[in-house]
Amino acid sequence: MSSGIDGGDVRVEGGGDDVSAGKKGRVCYYYDREVGNFYYGPNHPMKPHRLAMTHELVLAYGLHTQMSMFALRKATPTELAQFHTEDYVDFLGRVTPETQHEYVSLMQRFNLGEDCPVFDGLGDFVRLYSGGSIDGARRLNHGLTDVAINWSGGLHHAKKGEASGFCYVNDLVLAILELLKHHARVLYIDIDIHHGDGVEEAFYTTDRVMTVSFHKYGDMFFPGTGALGDVGANRGKRYSVNVPLRDGVDDRTFQSLFQPIMERVMEVYQPGAVVLQCGADSLGGDRLGCFSLSLDGHADCVRFMKKFRVPLLVTGGGGYTKHNVARCWAYETAAVLDAQISESIPMNAYMEYYAPEYRLGVASRWCIENANKVAYLNHVKKVVFDNLKDMEIAPSVQMHEVPPDWLVQLEPEVLKDGAATGQDLFGSGFAPPKRRRREDEREENMNNGVQHH
Ligand SMILES: [Zn+2]
Repeated sequence: MSSGIDGGDVRVEGGGDDVSAGKKGRVCYYYDREVGNFYYGPNHPMKPHRLAMTHELVLAYGLHTQMSMFALRKATPTELAQFHTEDYVDFLGRVTPETQHEYVSLMQRFNLGEDCPVFDGLGDFVRLYSGGSIDGARRLNHGLTDVAINWSGGLHHAKKGEASGFCYVNDLVLAILELLKHHARVLYIDIDIHHGDGVEEAFYTTDRVMTVSFHKYGDMFFPGTGALGDVGANRGKRYSVNVPLRDGVDDRTFQSLFQPIMERVMEVYQPGAVVLQCGADSLGGDRLGCFSLSLDGHADCVRFMKKFRVPLLVTGGGGYTKHNVARCWAYETAAVLDAQISESIPMNAYMEYYAPEYRLGVASRWCIENANKVAYLNHVKKVVFDNLKDMEIAPSVQMHEVPPDWLVQLEPEVLKDGAATGQDLFGSGFAPPKRRRREDEREENMNNGVQHH
């Protein structure tokens, strides 16, 4: 598989119908400048700034001219409470770094603190990234787009009544609930290096949502769930698929599982909509990860799922080496658009992050040995396929009453010039890069080998 490192255009698959004018599919994209400015705190690996970097790269590549751009809308507390408990939603909306010390027991109860700190604007942050995923789902429901992209979403660990693994509100669950208003079956796919536990848990006992997660498992790796034998329960039995992997997964290994498994899942489950969580911590060289995927290995998942032409919501997720996250999601935006983009990074506001190569594909700075032996992979594949074999084909589930769509905001605010970046959004001028925080700079200068989660 070409990594595109040696120059020339990065490989973009597709051909035939896909590239002919008008048949590429309509794509919409959600972003707001505000979302890149939130700050979890010094030494915290989650950097929302990666979202601003991604967006700048999307603009610099001119990809915004090929899709509809929407500003993130802040989801309402009522919308968040479609999944989360009201007391948790209420607390997220009012706790501040200054007041958190007054709520020791609530902080504990909602699992807020070290991994999931209370930072300035937390309430707005969760509403923004959730609004993007919910609105994306609504546009898909109403046939207004074929693919919706929200790189700020994908916070798959959040639970009904507590934060987990840097995630506070589970926008994926909220988006899936929205899709279930119009679709009998929704498929969720997770290629973040961590198990998609929050989404799996939310739909563990239903056959209306099938979850498929590919993740690192074992060695106390966070969150510790997602064993091969966890397949769902009650009506949901066989509708949770877990593909637990060892260190050092490379492109070939990953695709040798992803493609046949997803092919089969699409065939037997026949979902009306697909949600694809594209956590970029499964890339080689991630600050917290231990896989060895290249940009192409990662983006092949997007290309593969797009080929089924089922309404598709694409989100971000983890990803802790910022410059690679931005590369990955900009590249995947191009993949969704079937756009060919240049291997050399075009001038943009965060140019210095791409030094010294200023290339799209970068070799991982170190190589982790692939610990996934053939026998193990065959075993995983066999167990997964045996489960799928016993699954009812396209279960005709009873549709619950469809709630009224009065909440639907079908024409959210379109990103206007300057709205997203404080610059001529579609022009060639570049906003001065935001000053990096000194703590971040120190962290970035240190090596990335921190094992956290
Ligand atoms: Zn992750």
